Amino acid sequence: MKILILGGTTEARELANRLVGDGHDVITSLAGRTQDPILPKGRLRMGRFGGIPGLSAYLRAAGIERLVDATHPYAGQMSINAVAASNASGVRLVRLMRAPWVPAPGQHWTVVGSTREAADALPSNATALLTTGHAGLDDFMGREDCRFLVRVIEAPPEPLPAHAELITSRPPYQLADEIALMQRHGITHLVSKNSGGGQTAAKLEAAAQLSVRVVMIERPIYGPAHEVDTVEAALNALGSDIS
Ligand code: NAP
Repeated sequence: MKILILGGTTEARELANRLVGDGHDVITSLAGRTQDPILPKGRLRMGRFGGIPGLSAYLRAAGIERLVDATHPYAGQMSINAVAASNASGVRLVRLMRAPWVPAPGQHWTVVGSTREAADALPSNATALLTTGHAGLDDFMGREDCRFLVRVIEAPPEPLPAHAELITSRPPYQLADEIALMQRHGITHLVSKNSGGGQTAAKLEAAAQLSVRVVMIERPIYGPAHEVDTVEAALNALGSDIS
């Protein structure tokens, strides 16, 4: 079967490797944002499609039989495009998306819709660990009455202002290290996206143990699709007559 995987995640890479191993013709599409990404087996396509018309045209021209949206839960535009292009082209879609995290028993999260709302939710004098990536950093930097520890994989292009400190590091993160980091910096608030998965979940457990308040930015809405949350379930869905 000829399968296009919209990638950019560990799960997308694992799925591609498994499908290639099973003899399928797999093309993984990457947006091309990450320098030096770990590449999956199979064929690669780098760069944008040009919205819903571009993706629909590609699906038809390349003779794609199944489309898998295995993008990050916060790549909302691509997931919206996948639903619309599947409908327009008749190519069936499976969405592979990690299950969201849920608060630990007794833990309360402030759930917000955007980085702007997350920044507004912080009280004066908060010391916040920001784990939300580059997008929306300006919303937080405008809060000069707070201090920020900004943890990112790759440093942003512009230097941060004096009330923010940058650390670059790469998951996975361990609970003991997350606790030590939060204690060392006197963190009062953790700002996170609800990415799900195990690689970065320890920060939530650390926050629960240290009574650090959690401001959680909720996932975007993408529209209806046949959705699974594990690579195994995606393989089953692709093997069956999904609709
Ligand atoms: P986005 O806002 O949903 O996408 C913006 C545009 O980038 C899309 O409309 C599409 O352009 C292009 N695009 C996105 N993913 C693509 C893909 N896999 N292949 C080809 N084109 C793609 O996405 P984003 O948040 O910028 O994320 C970009 C990529 O990074 C995604 O593949 C995602 O899996 C990965 N990623 C994102 C995050 C995150 O937090 N957002 C975290 C880890 C990895 P056209 O409309 O022109 O086709």
